[in-house]
Amino acid sequence: AAKGGGRGRHHFYDDDLHSDAKEREQLEEDLREAIARGALELHYQPQVRTATSAVTGYEALLRWKHPLHGYISPAKFVPVAEDAGLVAQIGEWALRTACQDLANWPEAVRVAVNISPLQFANPALPAIVTSAVAAAGINPGQLELEITESVFLSDEKATEAMFGALKGLGVRLALDDFGTGYSSLGYLKRAPFDRIKIDQSLVRGAAIEGSRNDAIISSIVSLAQALEMDTTAEGIETFDELDLVKSLGCSHVQGYIYERPLSAEGVAEQLGRGLVLTAQGPRSVRATR
Ligand code: C2E
Ligand code: MG
Ligand code: MG
Ligand code: MG
Repeated sequence: AAKGGGRGRHHFYDDDLHSDAKEREQLEEDLREAIARGALELHYQPQVRTATSAVTGYEALLRWKHPLHGYISPAKFVPVAEDAGLVAQIGEWALRTACQDLANWPEAVRVAVNISPLQFANPALPAIVTSAVAAAGINPGQLELEITESVFLSDEKATEAMFGALKGLGVRLALDDFGTGYSSLGYLKRAPFDRIKIDQSLVRGAAIEGSRNDAIISSIVSLAQALEMDTTAEGIETFDELDLVKSLGCSHVQGYIYERPLSAEGVAEQLGRGLVLTAQGPRSVRATR
């Protein structure tokens, strides 16, 4: 089922049909049309400092509202976009839109944008980032790029050069989904990350008694602290999980316990009420997730 629940609503493209090449083709065609119609949206989920419950930034998350099938998860359509050669276009749109939206928020707030490995492999990425930042008139330090460790699997020299070029622009770098793949310590050494995002699967497991995930999270946090990186625990849904990652020293949290991803209007409303959020536990299902 689609990430984050919403059972039924994402049914059309789910597993049984997903393997079907015809359906995939249809999805690709629909996606092209969605791009042309401007039917993609960015929603934003707050990233909160554990010590103060203050918002420090928002992660931009793609949303596609399909006319017949409702919201389709990016976990489903980003891979299709990659295969169809559409990810560069969507990625650039997301980067520009996120920077534009950020320009309306207080200067203390950042925006984090997910960068696919294909975007990362494009030598034009630093120029695209520079252009998006300049067009929006924001400070490059307000932009954080979320990158997964899969970028380390391709050409080592090119990867290193790209990290250097992005860092040179003054943007921040986050290592996303840490703890899901190989999660080599070497990756942390080889790239100038400002933040490690601890994957929600590690967090989920850690709340289970007898699991050793708490020890693993704790050592990721120590390492991050030694390297002067922030740590964001992803996917925090319950007070137990919040208390746990706080006690393990994670500097930031992100998850439904504070807020589901909001529209840009929702962010403006939230910021209008101030930066400090209140943990509220799992929310009921809403239109946006
Ligand atoms: P991600 O970057 O790891 O994003 C975090 C995912 O966790 C998001 O799923 C978010 O909605 C979800 N999430 C946040 N809090 C909770 C929680 O408390 N519980 C649960 N169960 N889930 C939570 P989403 O929005 O479906 O995005 C899935 C993935 O799609 C993202 O994972 C990212 O890899 C990719 N993606 C999203 N937007 C973009 C984009 O603009 N560009 C690229 N290349 N990929 C994107
Ligand atoms: Mg991310
Ligand atoms: Mg993640
Ligand atoms: Mg993920």
